[in-house]
Amino acid sequence: MNSPHASSEAVPRLARIIPRDSHPISRSKIAPEALRVLYRLREAGFEAYLVGGCVRDLTLGLEPKDFDVATNALPEQVKRLFRNCRLVGRRFRLAHVFFGREVIEVATFRASGAPPQGDELPPEDVTLEDGSLEDASLDDAPLEAEEAIEVEDSRDVHDFDESLERVVDQSGRILRDNAYGTIDDDIWRRDFTCNALYYNIADFSVWDYCQGFEDVKARRLRLIGDPETRYREDPVRMLRAARFQAKLGFEIEPATAEPIANLSGLLAGVPPARLFDETLKLFLTGHGAESYRVLLERGLLDELLPGVAAFARKHPGSAPERMLIQGLINTDARVRADRPVTPSFLFALLLYGPIGLAIEKRPKAEWHEISTILDAVDVAVRDIYSRVAVHRRFILGMRDMFALQPRLEVPKGRRALRTLEHPRFRAAFDLLQLRAEFGMADKAVVEWWTRLQTASPEQRATMSEAIGRTGGGEGRASSGGRNSRRRRGGRRRGRGGGGPGGG
Ligand code: ATP
Ligand code: MG
Repeated sequence: MNSPHASSEAVPRLARIIPRDSHPISRSKIAPEALRVLYRLREAGFEAYLVGGCVRDLTLGLEPKDFDVATNALPEQVKRLFRNCRLVGRRFRLAHVFFGREVIEVATFRASGAPPQGDELPPEDVTLEDGSLEDASLDDAPLEAEEAIEVEDSRDVHDFDESLERVVDQSGRILRDNAYGTIDDDIWRRDFTCNALYYNIADFSVWDYCQGFEDVKARRLRLIGDPETRYREDPVRMLRAARFQAKLGFEIEPATAEPIANLSGLLAGVPPARLFDETLKLFLTGHGAESYRVLLERGLLDELLPGVAAFARKHPGSAPERMLIQGLINTDARVRADRPVTPSFLFALLLYGPIGLAIEKRPKAEWHEISTILDAVDVAVRDIYSRVAVHRRFILGMRDMFALQPRLEVPKGRRALRTLEHPRFRAAFDLLQLRAEFGMADKAVVEWWTRLQTASPEQRATMSEAIGRTGGGEGRASSGGRNSRRRRGGRRRGRGGGGPGGG
């Protein structure tokens, strides 16, 4: 198959064609938008297949998050077929067909000489119809609530790797014949066999080049080709392996799992913007708690978020770690309930332990000062930033959440009412609540804020005045408020037991 891969012999050129009556994929489970794209392409005389995670999920009886289409139509030809279509990617073009909020990604079969998916750069910009450029990073995803973000599934803009410039002509234009290919070249754009099944709209059969169908049924994750080669081509595949293990409960077969321990260090060479996107997919798509477990187990967290992993290894089972895991479980439930989640909260959870350690390096008397807390946040952020380029607004959101903790722990008079109006109050309160659950904040003060939120304006005024007088917990100064400052410090049981702003 003329693949540039050392292991090309591993994938036969001919697909095994699984007829409609031998696989479970029913058209009733395919999004109508995806069907429309497939049928329109076919009516225009092109080949059209569903490919990737959606075929895998349909085979498993799961509802796919998105539908990707592969075709022999060139991007420009796809564009002509759909009014609601725009081409994305500077060097390797993909078509996005829009149906309201739904996007169907249509990719032209890639030639064997073209780089595999992972060699591509992360999404940077999108070429609009008028040729102008638009930032297409997650930064611009539609926001539901204050900075809440819906994590999109991979909609990578496929660009050529710089090292493959030789396939472009003098003017920098890609030599098309080198770039596009046939369906059996396309297989090398895929990572795992379970992600390399093609559903053919012509006769509803499934094309399988590498026993992906068997692997899906056996719930087995197996890289196409030589695992080490494939990881070296794109180290992010190691994270994808962990993600699919966490998400699907697949077992990573030994030959695919084994090289990870030695190669995980290659993640250091992946652009931090891409690792940010992967981090969100790992932790904010409904299986974050399991992702955390798998990443730690496989030694991948140490490369992705070194400070977070170091804390977990030094303080296993500590309150901050248990809080992180519970926070991830709560986040997973929110995702499943279709409620918005925010990366600010995620990173607050992940970095809570490291931030606590940074705080504890300072004299005890300073632990509750805002400047101490913010410095510690900055130290922890700097530590992960070389790996994972967390967008600035999420860092700012996280700083606010931490800065609000002392104010929440010691509510004072009218200021408490203003705190309630703070755009980050809800996230900060959720963090306080979690901290209290794990003995790192006062439960009484959580109850007080809970009551305040549901109280009428008159009741709120009364409550805030009362707390102004007593200095905490509505007369419960012994379990919250002023006194708690001293006590919080005293309760700390060495490193890993504490946390930002006390606990
Ligand atoms: P899900 O959408 O459930 O997270 P997916 O398999 O659809 O999983 P995507 O990131 O949406 O994952 O990618 C779509 C398809 O593109 C994959 O199924 C795979 O065939 C291919 N692919 C994506 N990323 C890579 C990669 N880094 N290397 C090789 N192939 C990839
Ligand atoms: Mg997908």
